[in-house]
Amino acid sequence: MNMDFKRELPTSRVVKEMYPLSTELNEQKKKNDEELHKVFLGESDKFVLVIGPCSADREDAVLDYIGRLAEVREKVKDKILIVPRIYTNKPRTTGDGYKGMLHQPDPNSNPDMLKGVIAIRKLHMKALEQTGFSCADEMLYPENHQYLSDILSYVAVGARSVENQQHRLTASGLDVPVGMKNPTGGDLSIMINAITAAQHSHTFVYSKWEVESHGNPMAHAILRGSANQYGRSVPNYHYEDLQLLNEYYIKSGLANPGVIVDTNHANSGKKWDEQPRIAKEIVHSMHHSEDIRKLVKGLMIESYIEDGCQKLSGDVYGQSITDPCLGWEKTEKLILELADLL
Ligand code: PEP
Ligand code: MN
Repeated sequence: MNMDFKRELPTSRVVKEMYPLSTELNEQKKKNDEELHKVFLGESDKFVLVIGPCSADREDAVLDYIGRLAEVREKVKDKILIVPRIYTNKPRTTGDGYKGMLHQPDPNSNPDMLKGVIAIRKLHMKALEQTGFSCADEMLYPENHQYLSDILSYVAVGARSVENQQHRLTASGLDVPVGMKNPTGGDLSIMINAITAAQHSHTFVYSKWEVESHGNPMAHAILRGSANQYGRSVPNYHYEDLQLLNEYYIKSGLANPGVIVDTNHANSGKKWDEQPRIAKEIVHSMHHSEDIRKLVKGLMIESYIEDGCQKLSGDVYGQSITDPCLGWEKTEKLILELADLL
């Protein structure tokens, strides 16, 4: 093989033993899960906001941001269920660039995967400890999910991974809602196939074991827009797109039809400040159609402390070093507005 095996990393079991969840935090996580599961099983009409920075680049700013979300949570809790994004591993279009805290606990230093696995567990734990939030992360590397499997309340499979069998089969063995994004090319049938695979049970190899998954009835869709053959963003958050997805769901016969609509990425064309308008349009569509109201479980919003984004080498506290985000003031205003509109 053309690679160096640099050092053996501790297994997820060892890392979990080094940094265990207390009984209290475990209880809190279970409570969060119960509420969220009801939404995806069609037993609650709370509106989910999976919200936070594109990437969790530094612990202090992420915890500061999530602390702010915790204050807003109290004002909207009758209608909105907030699940903060703590995205610790980032898929890159060409493979180059910042790959997240897992790879680079310090974004400006060399990759260090040992420090990385510890840093991401500590960050998710601190968020739970300080705010009671158990958060969302992307499952970029299915095996690595185990380092966080007792802390995460929501998992997304990204647009570049959704066609991958190992992601789909692993999703079928998780006990939290898994959002399957539409692929970057926009083909909804690929996403529906991923949801189908995740809802069924499978026998496969995972982490050197032969495992049998039980199927995940909370696997659902995430619409994130697509890019056409000229690289131009094509949104899929409009009324007609939601209707079309509903038709796909009806034809598929899948359990618990549901979608989270991503307001950034190819839906905004990364024009981050369009996110409030997009969010409100989706709520408007929900008011217009009972089918869409039932289908839309919530939104995914890219939001951080400062508006926009900066270069990787930049040092603006709380400003994204990956996709541009909605800053805190606009975010707070949007969450309060959504609670009024719902
Ligand atoms: C993200 O959520 O930041 C992300 C990388 O999404 P996508 O897979 O839709 O590009
Ligand atoms: Mn992003």
